[in-house]
Amino acid sequence: MERRGHLGLSMLAIFGSFSVLGIRDMEALFAGLVALALSTVPDMDMRMGMRHRGVTHSLGFAVLLGILTGAMFLYMGLPALLGFLAGFGGVALHIVGDMLTYRPITPMWPLSGRRIALRLFRSNSRLANGLASAAGSAALLYYLAFVLTDVGWRALGAALGLLEW
Ligand SMILES: [Zn+2]
Repeated sequence: MERRGHLGLSMLAIFGSFSVLGIRDMEALFAGLVALALSTVPDMDMRMGMRHRGVTHSLGFAVLLGILTGAMFLYMGLPALLGFLAGFGGVALHIVGDMLTYRPITPMWPLSGRRIALRLFRSNSRLANGLASAAGSAALLYYLAFVLTDVGWRALGAALGLLEW
């Protein structure tokens, strides 16, 4: 998947679940944003001369990044577990996105070397990346307007008021 597809899928998962669960807690929101930012990290393998879609696309890397992020949160006076979830979740979301494409990855490394590719679309598919990006943006907007704030409800109310008037 492309960068915008990964970001879109992550936004959809993070802000979609935040919306469903009604999460407005600032620490959780911060963790969500960290997870979103970290969900593009696995593709740094392309720039670091490593085999693409290798180690950085695995459970092992998700745990490693989770521990690093947990330590960072602890240092900032935030719950370490929340940081672990943000780092682990960011990589896990990336792995889910790439698993849907044609080029196999080994998501369970080092527990298992099994290669997985669900072959739903090509990683550079304009449609899939565009859809993920649009859906993620919509989830973010919905969350901001209707869950985190009541701007959306008020705008709707104003629009309905105008109609009645
Ligand atoms: Zn990737």
